[in-house]
Amino acid sequence: KITCNVGIYVTNEKALSVDSMIDRAVLALSSIKGSYTSKYNIFTESLRNEMLSEQEISGIMATALEERQFVLHYQPQFNHSTGKLIGVEALVRWNHPEKGMISPGVFIPIFEKNGFITRLDLYVFEQVCVFIRKCMDKGLPLVPVSSNFSRFVENLETIRKRHEVPIELVRIEITESAVFGDSEHANEVVKQLHQCGYIVEMDDFGSGYSSLNVLKDIELDLIKLDMMFLVEKSDSNRGGMILSSVVRMAKWLGLPVIAEGVETAEQARFLKDINCTMVQGYLFDKPLPEDE
Ligand code: C2E
Ligand code: CA
Repeated sequence: KITCNVGIYVTNEKALSVDSMIDRAVLALSSIKGSYTSKYNIFTESLRNEMLSEQEISGIMATALEERQFVLHYQPQFNHSTGKLIGVEALVRWNHPEKGMISPGVFIPIFEKNGFITRLDLYVFEQVCVFIRKCMDKGLPLVPVSSNFSRFVENLETIRKRHEVPIELVRIEITESAVFGDSEHANEVVKQLHQCGYIVEMDDFGSGYSSLNVLKDIELDLIKLDMMFLVEKSDSNRGGMILSSVVRMAKWLGLPVIAEGVETAEQARFLKDINCTMVQGYLFDKPLPEDE
């Protein structure tokens, strides 16, 4: 399944260079990166004001990290047949002193391009360990916390051990981009993570065209199913059929499945019907600040 995201600039300022016009279309495009629902966006002046340019971001990212402007929100995951909280996913936001909260859809693609993502992912992982440690010290009930990784990183064990966090409380979510193109290397790294005892989850399953190959080549522990499958373009229910086959296939492979991006009661009911009991999405909870 191939989907396409589009950034649009309406050429009403004829004096502008073609390069600048393209920049504006790209800015509109990057404003919807990572979004489930928006497939296109149109450039406006206010959009530009809201968003930082790629150059601007690259210029201030290191200082922002030092100044702890990156904050984590946690989105709960539930077993919806028992209603029990079964885990949370850590999602980073940039709390910019002037622009306010910037969504990861804006800056993660830039960091992936310029390489800064590795530092940010390590920082996020460390903050997750600090958070779990705090909960442990307070004697609060604990659930595993998943962190996102765009690239494979080293030194996770050093960080985890520094904060004395049990390995079963941290999980690794990797996106297809992390494994894409080099599944042999990815398989090696996943093996090493397994040797340490980590649970490794395949993120955004179904959004990329090589998902099935990834499953074949790499031994993962859990798949996160993208609910984009259920955004129906017609009445044919093809998305639903694909979803139920994927859940069945995962069962055969012995892989647990969690559905993410669950927004409606109808989707939740459907997931229950096809025996997908683990869910995450706005219907249940948004990503929440640490205290909440
Ligand atoms: P993702 O890993 O697929 O995370 C799920 C995204 O879907 C989150 O967006 C979440 O807020 C949103 N979401 C959750 N439930 C729903 C729902 O019911 N409906 C809709 N429409 N959306 C829902 P967010 O927080 O903006 O993150 C976007 C992406 O940025 C993430 O997608 C992930 O790929 C990336 N990201 C976030 N934090 C990190 C990080 O620390 N490291 C790396 N490498 N990537 C990160
Ligand atoms: Ca994720």
